[in-house]
Amino acid sequence: MELFKSLDLNKEHKEDVKIENIEKVKCLIIGSGPAGYTAAIYAARSNLKPVLYTGLQMGGQLMTTTDVENYPGYPDGVTGPGMMEDFKKQAERFGADIRFGIATDADFSGKTHKVTIDDSKTIEADAVIIATGATAKYLGLEAESRYAGMGVSACATCDGFFYKGKDVAVVGGGDTAAEEATYLAGLCRKVYLIVRRDVLRASKAMQQKVMNTSNIEILWKHQAIDLFGENGVEGVTLVKEKGTPREEIVKLQIDGFFLAIGHTPNSEVFKRFINTDPTGYIITIPGTSKTNIPGVFAAGDVQDPVYRQAVTAAGSGCTAAIDAERYLSESHTEIPSK
Ligand SMILES: Cc1cc2nc3c(=O)[nH]c(=O)nc-3n(C[C@H](O)[C@H](O)[C@H](O)COP(=O)(O)OP(=O)(O)OC[C@H]3O[C@@H](n4cnc5c(N)ncnc54)[C@H](O)[C@@H]3O)c2cc1C
Repeated sequence: MELFKSLDLNKEHKEDVKIENIEKVKCLIIGSGPAGYTAAIYAARSNLKPVLYTGLQMGGQLMTTTDVENYPGYPDGVTGPGMMEDFKKQAERFGADIRFGIATDADFSGKTHKVTIDDSKTIEADAVIIATGATAKYLGLEAESRYAGMGVSACATCDGFFYKGKDVAVVGGGDTAAEEATYLAGLCRKVYLIVRRDVLRASKAMQQKVMNTSNIEILWKHQAIDLFGENGVEGVTLVKEKGTPREEIVKLQIDGFFLAIGHTPNSEVFKRFINTDPTGYIITIPGTSKTNIPGVFAAGDVQDPVYRQAVTAAGSGCTAAIDAERYLSESHTEIPSK
């Protein structure tokens, strides 16, 4: 239901009248990855009449990958875009209202939650599900986009299997890098861990694990500057001891190049009201999707610094829709007519 507030067409000076474009909905879902679409499926089937805004990347992170082989229900694998099209169709089948638009501001100070879309429209929602995902950090090399899906990955759990028995490099020195290197060491012939400094930031336990894994070799004080290969990554160009008299260029033959330098959760718009950890991941009450604001829920990678998988995101989207449904039935809010 579109409500145009403060609009009086009989006024002489129409240009002076501020037109506020406000729409009231019961359940607003922000984000169209596995978490957002799953929340939409469950919310629509619970008669919450969800409105979902897709954000810039309709379908989420999986739109940037070719093969998804670990999502249950697809025994022969599926392409990322193909799978997300299936999610969308399923949500639409139950009446979810899926729209293109970006949440640009939020005000969760009142009982009704307000979210601004594209700086031009306000959605007033009784319940909001934030499913805006997280974005993997890259080094910023031109080669990373040139070889996207052809040997460059930011997810060892997702893509490690494709490099079984091969040689790979992992970039990073923190816990994630140590974990990804150890995981890949169980699949690959050789794992080079490319570390900019001469120490690892990873916890002592993770460092021990890396040091005790025979097929991981740590390349201290190395920085990746380029990738090479004809039809995909065949190697990485590194600079060793950059800026010192001992600086040298090193070329390494590898089949896969894994970034493990962190993710940025897409929570900026909500941070004024929603509690996050120091990295920006939304904090939810353990075992639920509830945030610190009643009626605002979070699902998927935006609240998950640990697992970050499609199936875990979808699972938490389901949790968020069920939490939202229970919250709404307990708070006896009016169902707006659509
Ligand atoms: C290259 C690659 C390959 C992967 N392969 C696999 C795999 O094989 N198997 C697997 O399980 N996982 C894989 N993953 C991880 C998986 O994609 C994520 O865990 C999953 O997509 C997270 O789902 P999500 O719904 O939380 O967020 P996302 O998929 O990140 O979706 C976030 C959504 O929020 C929207 N959004 C963001 N900000 C706003 C805003 N301000 N307003 C409105 N909308 C907004 C975006 O447009 C997007 O639609 C892969 C990831 C990558 C990058």
